[in-house]
Amino acid sequence: MIAIVLFGKPGAGKGTQAEFLKEKYNLTHISTGDVFRYNLKNDTDLGKQARVYMDNGELVPDELTINMLKAEVEKNMDKAGFLFDGFPRTIPQADALDAFLKSINLEVTATVGLEANDDVLVARILERGKTSGRADDQDEAKIRTRYEEYNEKTAPLIEFYKTQDKYYAVDGIGTVAEVTQRLSNIIDKL
Ligand code: AMP
Repeated sequence: MIAIVLFGKPGAGKGTQAEFLKEKYNLTHISTGDVFRYNLKNDTDLGKQARVYMDNGELVPDELTINMLKAEVEKNMDKAGFLFDGFPRTIPQADALDAFLKSINLEVTATVGLEANDDVLVARILERGKTSGRADDQDEAKIRTRYEEYNEKTAPLIEFYKTQDKYYAVDGIGTVAEVTQRLSNIIDKL
């Protein structure tokens, strides 16, 4: 099985691309943001604990996130691998992912970063906020908090995976199909 991590700032197109890639490569797509939103909507215990962080654009604490991710992986061992979208987002999450995958005889195969400049991304998120119903997409201050969280806690992961020769950068600007093709070119060579 393979395990691919999709990186990118909010609005970079991770979710959109994951929809194509999961079909093409028979992968289980795990979006931690989607799983959290599902729990929020259904007002589960996890949703109750995550809500305040999510609504403010802050990261949910690592322990909650890591436990949730492990449960999602364990439920879905029936495909050719995993496509992680929005996880890991901190160094402790990346360490936990390595240890967890090792315990089930897997490892991170590659991480792919969708790169785009911040102005384009903020405009995309505001546009998405008109229809997504997401509180964290509609307010510029919350969007800014998400970028600060990204820069402070998630950006260091690029170095983390580069030192392991597992980071591939992809230009995230273009049509959906163009970007899918760029990602496929990398995945096909793994
Ligand atoms: P996303 O849909 O990936 O933009 O995630 C939306 C929100 O869910 C984030 O702003 C966080 O509050 C929370 N979240 C998603 N993934 C993680 C993660 N790996 N670690 C912590 N919080 C997360």
